[in-house]
Amino acid sequence: MQVVETSSPECLLMSSDTSSSGSKMDPYQISDSDSCIGDDHEESMEDLPVDKEKKFLHLVEMGFLIDDASLALEKCGPDASITELMDFISATQIEKITTDAHLQESDYPILNENEPGPSHFPSAPHPDKKRKLFEAEEIWEKKIDSQRRRKKESTYKKVKKPELQEDEESVRLPKLLIGFGVPNMPRPVFNRKIPSQAISLPYFYFENVACAPKGAWDTISRFLWEIKPEFVDSMYFCAAARKRGYIHNLPIHNRFLLQPIPPLTIQEAFPLTKKWWPSWDKRTKLNCLTSSHGSAKVIKRIRLALENWDEEPPLRIQKYILFECRRWNYVWVGKNKVAPLEPEEIEMLMGYPKYHTRGGGTSLTDRIKALGNSFQVDTVAFHLSVLKNIFPNGISVLSLFSGIGGAEVALHRLGIPLKNVVSVEILKVNRNIIQSWWEQTNQKGNLIHIADVQQLCLDKLKGLMNSLGGFDLIIGGSPCNNLSGSNRVSRDGLHGEHSVLFFHYFRILNDVKILMRNG
Ligand code: SAH
Repeated sequence: MQVVETSSPECLLMSSDTSSSGSKMDPYQISDSDSCIGDDHEESMEDLPVDKEKKFLHLVEMGFLIDDASLALEKCGPDASITELMDFISATQIEKITTDAHLQESDYPILNENEPGPSHFPSAPHPDKKRKLFEAEEIWEKKIDSQRRRKKESTYKKVKKPELQEDEESVRLPKLLIGFGVPNMPRPVFNRKIPSQAISLPYFYFENVACAPKGAWDTISRFLWEIKPEFVDSMYFCAAARKRGYIHNLPIHNRFLLQPIPPLTIQEAFPLTKKWWPSWDKRTKLNCLTSSHGSAKVIKRIRLALENWDEEPPLRIQKYILFECRRWNYVWVGKNKVAPLEPEEIEMLMGYPKYHTRGGGTSLTDRIKALGNSFQVDTVAFHLSVLKNIFPNGISVLSLFSGIGGAEVALHRLGIPLKNVVSVEILKVNRNIIQSWWEQTNQKGNLIHIADVQQLCLDKLKGLMNSLGGFDLIIGGSPCNNLSGSNRVSRDGLHGEHSVLFFHYFRILNDVKILMRNG
């Protein structure tokens, strides 16, 4: 996970190596980037360091060469974002290869019209071209090697500084993120303990990124009555990875899946891509669907890089392209042409109705961001399915950090009537999306919107509970901006500016428990 987290061209080599060699550990051969690089509730890469020096250091820390980093800053200017700088460096590397390999006409000797020249033998490469191709590959190889060396050295330096290592370490996750069981995998052996104080109503369900900084899940568990997280990767439920931890007091027997079962591979989900999918792109699952999407520049660069080869491009080019495809979850949509997923395609992968996020009058960016932060509905519904028999006449839900209503959609799709939903979500666009969905699906219950969890004080809770008769389920995934591995600037842990809102989840849950206990 660390490899992809670095996002450097070096990880391009390593991650594609894993996939092409068919890693035994991962039956789906995806690069394991989602939980750490492109996590939900993440900050986009544009939020990285502000001043020039910091950007320079950041690039070098990521494994780029000093020369490349300073050239990128010089050419792109001090205001360029880290993503732009990284793209510039990748572009110069790839351009070096392609321009060297693809000889300009002027590179050929001027021919006497009567003499046979290269045009008489269109398929036989000019000896110069062959040589240059070889040289270009060597340049690339050397660059990657030296970056690898630098990376090793810097890792070594980090190991020598225990305080740094401690800060940067993430939670240790099990190899297979299958929680208390997922479809099509053997049931794991586990020992589930729910302390008696946590068994009382209401049911609760808390979610966050699996790959949080060390200690974050321990603290969350400590607050939530020492219940251990159930770590699950949504790749067992749909065609995209999403590694999440869930702490809940729900029963776990007789869970069932939402129907219809969604497509489980990229090729099943997007059959039209098959025609264009190159044999050397072995992806069958997408990485975590994140809140950022790629740039037109990268897409153009991929096309140009491929146009130089009639057949398979050399390994170096493949690796570069696979790196970008994994990083941005690109799919093949034409000859030499990749594209990012459309919002409707992401909606489908995440288990939402088509156009779900269009309901709020939202921009493309809002939609992608909201979807990048949302629950994967099939996964969450699997866990919530046990509530169907418990609440046949409907359920009252307090939905904290509702986003685009992943919890509400999951309960509805399970056929559990939504008696009352109090939805707490700060963004108006998201509240609009939930409101539109509520109307679209002809809900019969009550939907109450509240903007900020911080406004939901004890008195307000009392008032709501008196009028609604208590809550059956308190559900939510607090912001993970400061937990996600993709955030290299303010990954401040649970006490970070946004992630600290977890403590409101606990406060509200605890208040509701006390109020319900006292009748
Ligand atoms: N589970 C949700 C997404 C959770 S992401 C879904 O399925 O879509 C965290 C959400 O918390 C984001 O939508 C963010 O806008 C919201 N949020 C951030 N600060 C908040 C606050 N102070 N009060 C309420 N919601 C907040």
